[in-house]
Amino acid sequence: MNLEAKGIEQIIEIGKRLYQFRFIVATEGNISYRLSGDRILVTPSGLCKGFLKPEEILTVNLDGKILQNPSNLKPTSELLVHLAIYQERPDVKSIVHAHPPIATGFSVAGIPLEKCIVPEMLLTTGYIPLAKYGTPSTHELSENVREIIRKSNSILLENHGALAVGNDILEAFYRMESLEHYAQISLVARLLGGEKTLNSSQIDTLLSKNSH
Ligand SMILES: [Zn+2]
Repeated sequence: MNLEAKGIEQIIEIGKRLYQFRFIVATEGNISYRLSGDRILVTPSGLCKGFLKPEEILTVNLDGKILQNPSNLKPTSELLVHLAIYQERPDVKSIVHAHPPIATGFSVAGIPLEKCIVPEMLLTTGYIPLAKYGTPSTHELSENVREIIRKSNSILLENHGALAVGNDILEAFYRMESLEHYAQISLVARLLGGEKTLNSSQIDTLLSKNSH
């Protein structure tokens, strides 16, 4: 299977999972995958990502020009955000944007996930900062994301949702899944009296043990 067909297959599969996990509802969310320097597969706007068909995936270039569009659809309304990230981070191959309810709750409360509450968080997603609010589909949002994506692979979008990037579609999805998982753990700890975070010596030991 060539890279394009595999990318389309994985976008459809991850769209189903995002929908089944209720990380997105109705027509929310979007996924993209960079095939090569200037060819990017993106999900369409206005369709449920839980039921996508191969011919509904579009191909665009880094300027947002549509290269392939077999079903004559509109690309994701957050195309500007995807393009800004691919321009800013040449290492990024895939982007998943969703509205997982607990992480989105943190974004609505204005609370980033920047405390080390469990070791895996530090070793997988790292800290999850909060990008300033920007009106969806505008340069305001894409520039706020561009600013923060330089330093993190998983971010919250204020009063909106979450976004994760990766080396491939699965890695971006796993980061989205982990982000929601840590938000859930953090919420439960807060309900039970507050988070007791790892201290700096525990963090140092953890990082040195995993650096080789
Ligand atoms: Zn959104």
